[in-house]
Amino acid sequence: MRAVVLKEFGRMALEEVATPEPGDGEARLRVRMTGVCGSDLHGFTGANGRRVPGQVMGHELVGVVEALGAGADLPLGALVTLNPVVGCGGCAPCRAGTEPYCPDKRVIGVDPTRTAGFAEYVVAPAANVVALPAGMPVAHGALVEPLAVGYHAARRGGVTAEDRVLVLGGGPIGQAVALAARRLSAARVVVSEPHAGRRDLCRALGVEVLDPVAGPVGPRVAARLDGPASVAIDAVGTSGTVADAFASTALGARIVLVGMAAPRLELDAFGVSTGERSLTGAFSYTSAEFVETARWAGTEPDAVAALVEREIPADRAPAQFAELAEGLAVAGKVLVRFS
Ligand SMILES: [Zn+2]
Ligand SMILES: [Zn+2]
Repeated sequence: MRAVVLKEFGRMALEEVATPEPGDGEARLRVRMTGVCGSDLHGFTGANGRRVPGQVMGHELVGVVEALGAGADLPLGALVTLNPVVGCGGCAPCRAGTEPYCPDKRVIGVDPTRTAGFAEYVVAPAANVVALPAGMPVAHGALVEPLAVGYHAARRGGVTAEDRVLVLGGGPIGQAVALAARRLSAARVVVSEPHAGRRDLCRALGVEVLDPVAGPVGPRVAARLDGPASVAIDAVGTSGTVADAFASTALGARIVLVGMAAPRLELDAFGVSTGERSLTGAFSYTSAEFVETARWAGTEPDAVAALVEREIPADRAPAQFAELAEGLAVAGKVLVRFS
């Protein structure tokens, strides 16, 4: 099969590799499309230290069930997506359905020993294969994973219908967070994003936007939301965006950090202590949130369609990765097509 292999940091190649065989309890999917995640780009450059040369990346995929190992029971030919978080299955967090807290979890597309999405075929535990709603456009299946990241982040922030929500960053994760805040019936949502194309995309999703470069963020958030935010979700993760979160939120607000732009942050300690704001992390999602998100995505085809920037053929992927890593600004998700 053909796979897009990370040859060295900064260089990928489409190569012929062995087609994987499903083992016990596993399924082989024929990949239709796989989305390019920001973490893949940071893996491509080596910046995040979470990918290694020689591996195949890709954890946002949609495919078709093509073959089954012993004991796996899935409908052959079904259009599916994959929850890439593979828990050990035996520990207390796994049994409680909180796989992100499994100390031995592996992530497809991150773990170099596993097959992954930027290839014609991927093998994964059948339990991680998630059915898609009937009639869902193929591309939308690849958006379920980032949408689940956004949904989990919004839930970590405890977003309810009473909340005024600020989202820092309007890239694919910020877009997913904004949609999740709407999905949780948040009263008002505003996205702070410097890139005009991304602001346009977020506006098309039905949320307010502002340009953080145009002036202080705090007062403009208050103007847009009719008061300071009660929840801020940072989908960027720099000291600057965290400072904007503190400057824009009410006393007692919840701040969620899901963006991973910087490994260390400076933050307003008194904004936490005297301001009694809570700072919460968010990274992936539970298996239940992933399945719920797949179902929800089927009910919002227009919003999900708006998240897709472009589809490219697999042989364009190495060059597109290099262009994106060099700063090519895109508003939405780039999908790599394999079949
Ligand atoms: Zn991702
Ligand atoms: Zn476990």
